[in-house]
Amino acid sequence: MRLLLSSQIARTLLSLSSRAMSSSSYKSLLREKAFVNGQWVNAANGESFPVYNPANGELVCKVPDMGAADATAAIAHAQVAFEAWRGKTPSQRAALLHSWERLIQDRCEDLAALMTLENGKPLAESRGEVAYGASFIRWFAEEGIRVTGQTLQGPTPDKRIFTLKQPQGVCGMITPWNFPAAMITRKAGAALAAGCTVVIKPAEDTPLTALALCQLAADALLPPGALNVVTCSRSRAAEVGRVLTTDPAVKHVSFTGSTDTGKLLLAQASSTVKRVTMELGGNAPFIVFDSADVDKAVAGLIQAKFRNTGQTCVCPNRIFLQRRVSQKFLAKLCERVAEMKVGDGFEAGTQLGPLINAAAESKLERLLADAKQRGGRVLAGGQSVKVGSGAGHFFQPTVVSGLGRDSACFREEIFGPLVAAFEFDSEADVVELANDCRVGLAGYFYSADVGQCWRVAEQLNVGMVGVNESMVSSCIAPFGGWNESGLGSESGVGYGIEEYLNLKTVVLNLA
Ligand code: ADP
Repeated sequence: MRLLLSSQIARTLLSLSSRAMSSSSYKSLLREKAFVNGQWVNAANGESFPVYNPANGELVCKVPDMGAADATAAIAHAQVAFEAWRGKTPSQRAALLHSWERLIQDRCEDLAALMTLENGKPLAESRGEVAYGASFIRWFAEEGIRVTGQTLQGPTPDKRIFTLKQPQGVCGMITPWNFPAAMITRKAGAALAAGCTVVIKPAEDTPLTALALCQLAADALLPPGALNVVTCSRSRAAEVGRVLTTDPAVKHVSFTGSTDTGKLLLAQASSTVKRVTMELGGNAPFIVFDSADVDKAVAGLIQAKFRNTGQTCVCPNRIFLQRRVSQKFLAKLCERVAEMKVGDGFEAGTQLGPLINAAAESKLERLLADAKQRGGRVLAGGQSVKVGSGAGHFFQPTVVSGLGRDSACFREEIFGPLVAAFEFDSEADVVELANDCRVGLAGYFYSADVGQCWRVAEQLNVGMVGVNESMVSSCIAPFGGWNESGLGSESGVGYGIEEYLNLKTVVLNLA
């Protein structure tokens, strides 16, 4: 009994101290204004919108609800800044980016707390995202120094041909809430290193991490106007988005978010023929073949599926289990799932934070109802969870098996902690099933058969494949989707920075 009491007290103290640490530390980076041309500014219309903590529904603060005029002004400042920024040497730009990256690393705890506060993800995941986000800035600082063109032979004796790569200009960026830091650094790091300047509209749910990054960029002495953040509510996203995708001064639109919004932005950007980078939704297959190491496959699924409470575009969406291994896999998975802790991201030991909002919970409930109606069996979870005041939207990690191609979980991106399992017989069958969708971002499979590893990796119609591995993203690896999952690549050797460079051919006459 005494042991029990003391362990309870220890847990409470741990949780109190982690809350106290977090709530005091993030305030030093909390900014309630937008960041344009190196200044902290309000919206021209004087309006603001609220940012809530998704774990408890409490108001964190308000930030400017900017509109078209603010976006246009930010683009104009970024255009002026571009003329000076492009004139710096790549090494000078790299030095400033390295300073920014170091400050981000130094303030990891504060940034992580801010991220958990507005996004809800467990603090440990937020810390991981800060390091992951910083890695892109470091990577691109170094990529920028190594941009090269070519020297080509001429078509006639008196000619030589060169290619140059030059920064495009102002880049408009629209980012999602699920990675409030990394989706900004992966885009802005590449663009800035290439010599471009940027205007970012962060997601309305998570503007605070974006603004904190601006403060650190200012502290790192990035010149005013190089990095601008225009904040706005969901009701003004279309207005601001229209300016970012149609203003002739913007030369590139980079977007991460839903396929539907991406298609709209793509159409808008076509009016002035902008370069685009689109990182859109996925419907990742996760295949476990009979030969697989089941423990590894279960661990891989847990890691990739439940990260960020299942709210990432590369989350395994359709879990395909070969018939012989299916029961064993599901039993082990359910054992692990039963141990997972759902709670406030600030609570020690939390593995699953809240869903981002009520709409996300309704979607999960709809998908689950559809699965049950079509004969799916709920093997674990299946309910929402009340945490604290009950104002957050928490959901049990859930496993449903026995699904078919007609289920909504097969067609839609789940974006939540719901494992939807399907069975298959042969390699050919599962490749056909996996490729039966219009998107193609990530895909994963587990197999001990080397020949099968090659065959299936080649046959999946996706931009990224994990073979006996469920983490496919790093600054080193090109990140991008096929088909309706997007256009272009972010990060990787050459690819990520190339997105922000124009190619120029110079023909020199020697005569
Ligand atoms: P989600 O539904 O997960 O929020 P979205 O694709 O709608 O995914 O949102 C991703 C980003 O796109 C957010 O920053 C959001 O504000 C922005 N967004 C949504 N609709 C539009 C739009 N019509 N124009 C510009 N940006 C938009």
